[in-house]
Amino acid sequence: MRIVVQKFGGTSVASPAAREQVVNRVLQAKKEGLAPVVVVSAIGRKGDPYATDTLLGLLKEAGPDVPKRERDLLLSCGEIITCTVMAALFNRCGQPAMALTGGQAGIITDDQFGDARIVEVHPEPILRVLEQGYIPVVAGFQGETADGEVTTLGRGGSDTTAAALGAALGAEAVEIFTDVDGVMTADPRIVDEAHTLDVVTYQEVTQMAYQGAKVIHPRAVEIAMQYNIPLRVRSTFTDAPGTLVTRGVPYPGRLALGPERLITGIAHLPHVAQLKVVLDPGDKAQEVELFSALAAAGISIDLINVFPEQKVFTVAEADAAKAGEVLKAKGFAPELTCGLAKVSVVGAGMRGVPGVMARVVAALYRAGVEILQTADSHATISCLVRGEDTEKAICALHEEFELGK
Ligand code: ADP
Ligand code: MG
Repeated sequence: MRIVVQKFGGTSVASPAAREQVVNRVLQAKKEGLAPVVVVSAIGRKGDPYATDTLLGLLKEAGPDVPKRERDLLLSCGEIITCTVMAALFNRCGQPAMALTGGQAGIITDDQFGDARIVEVHPEPILRVLEQGYIPVVAGFQGETADGEVTTLGRGGSDTTAAALGAALGAEAVEIFTDVDGVMTADPRIVDEAHTLDVVTYQEVTQMAYQGAKVIHPRAVEIAMQYNIPLRVRSTFTDAPGTLVTRGVPYPGRLALGPERLITGIAHLPHVAQLKVVLDPGDKAQEVELFSALAAAGISIDLINVFPEQKVFTVAEADAAKAGEVLKAKGFAPELTCGLAKVSVVGAGMRGVPGVMARVVAALYRAGVEILQTADSHATISCLVRGEDTEKAICALHEEFELGK
């Protein structure tokens, strides 16, 4: 059996017309002799009745202390609604289909409610459904602990469901259907000139995703990479071929040894806060205490610059108040700045190439964007900027590295 996992995101199932498109995509795969396994997200975006954010809103009046277990139980309903509706649509057009929750589809997670990790996938339930001639339609973004508790996988988790099922079922490919033509050089909502990349490596797209390009979840890419399953990111609504995510990029006349381009794209992450803490350079224990206190509170920190007398780092804005409180309780006097964004130049090809940072600094200077902090790795250079400068910064970098159409 040649299995293909097809995942459809929130906008792809948001209207009757869109759902009709989904049915067509799946039936097309069947026509081509493939056995599709469908994974779906909750319907629509914030404001739509069954979207994840809307469900979360229902609990708001109960305050912040709703147990995470209960929160997950509610959130899991969004995808269950979609998979039953989609299965009904397949059945209506004479194509037997069966809706399955994450647990019913064999997805076992740890018990980190709200951000659970898939630890195991039992392929048997889906294989059984396929053998009986049904199209399995699986609720994405959710799983079950070994004890049968319902969990959710965190934002973008349906991509991870799709990749994990692809791995467990030995799928020929995993297709991520969404509302853009593929993985692009920047968020097309911000950069008009952004263009779709035909082929990218797992490494390139993992970096883009970790730095905020939300078109695909980084965990999904990692799973596909580990099991060497080709991923394709494409549009539900157009016939564009999309982006193939694979191991090596085949360039005409050359061996596929890895990425040849310097820069893959520009990614960004909004809602970042910066914390500065002044320390007594003679007291080394303070430094340990500072980072231990944040770790104990479960706050993850990002861009980190450590100097003898000062520590500067960033946290997600949602964690900023808590981080401030934790540090004050330990006797520190943190200086907190909210409303920032991280803009990253991503490219596995930049490793060891001199001058990339110089071009980043010059481009942002010309655009009048102040860099508040930077960090780099072998494949990224990230700059912290003011929130209101985000678009200017992304466009300036996109142009500097000639990523336009
Ligand atoms: P879905 O609901 O289908 O999972 P998402 O909203 O999670 O869709 O992801 C698709 C969105 O990702 C696009 O609408 C686009 O605005 C955004 N995006 C951000 N960066 C990129 C990028 N580099 N390439 C393509 N899309 C991007
Ligand atoms: Mg998504």
